[in-house]
Amino acid sequence: MVRIEDLTFGYGADGFRLRVPEFSLEDGARVAVVGPSGSGKTTLLNLIAGILTPETGRIDVAGSEISRLSDAARRRFRASQIGFVFQDFALLEYLSARQNIYYPYRITPALTLDVEARDRAEALAAACGIGDKLDRHPSALSQGEQQRVAICRALVTQPKLILSDEATGNLDPESKARILDLLFDRAAEAGAAVLAVTHDHELLPRFERVLDFAQFREGAGS
Ligand code: ADP
Ligand code: MG
Repeated sequence: MVRIEDLTFGYGADGFRLRVPEFSLEDGARVAVVGPSGSGKTTLLNLIAGILTPETGRIDVAGSEISRLSDAARRRFRASQIGFVFQDFALLEYLSARQNIYYPYRITPALTLDVEARDRAEALAAACGIGDKLDRHPSALSQGEQQRVAICRALVTQPKLILSDEATGNLDPESKARILDLLFDRAAEAGAAVLAVTHDHELLPRFERVLDFAQFREGAGS
């Protein structure tokens, strides 16, 4: 699903640098990403999603070399193939929770907001415990509720790749386990791979593999 080779990336000439010699995420795999704050976990997810572009090396996602696509093609690809739960949720305040969940359909002509998609959105929201809050705008939702809207938006298109950036960080332990169950269930149904940044070490046994980020720091191990 994801294959990275000889990737380097830097924020400007003097900024943070990341080097990933090699990484693969198999179809349907569940991999956790851990590492200290500021070690580049979010940067890696943004590179895989094509939000950032590598300096050198290549990233293939679902058989496409994502950095070679045009900006427009990359946006389409991202919206139709990848579900991204952002660390800061990235919800749009001028849209209701429901319209936020529908957002991938608004920006991607290849996706159709049909009855099935609407039913899926409602079912996801109900399963997340926000079914009765879909008419509210983000500022009228708690952090945990906003996080669940972001998770519904990432799952509603049934993407083949789910990138999750501390998606359970603002939830109580019970909701955490429930939301992770939901994420894994939906991923398994869709045959999707999950790459999830997490600080919750008690959740790690639920993943097949753990990627410790310390190793990717430029200069690490050399
Ligand atoms: P993590 O998610 O592991 O906490 P990030 O990927 O967010 O780490 O950030 C890695 C490093 O890159 C940090 O030192 C951060 O300050 C820096 N960084 C993140 N985003 C930018 C940006 N847009 N411009 C410059 N530096 C950035
Ligand atoms: Mg981060």
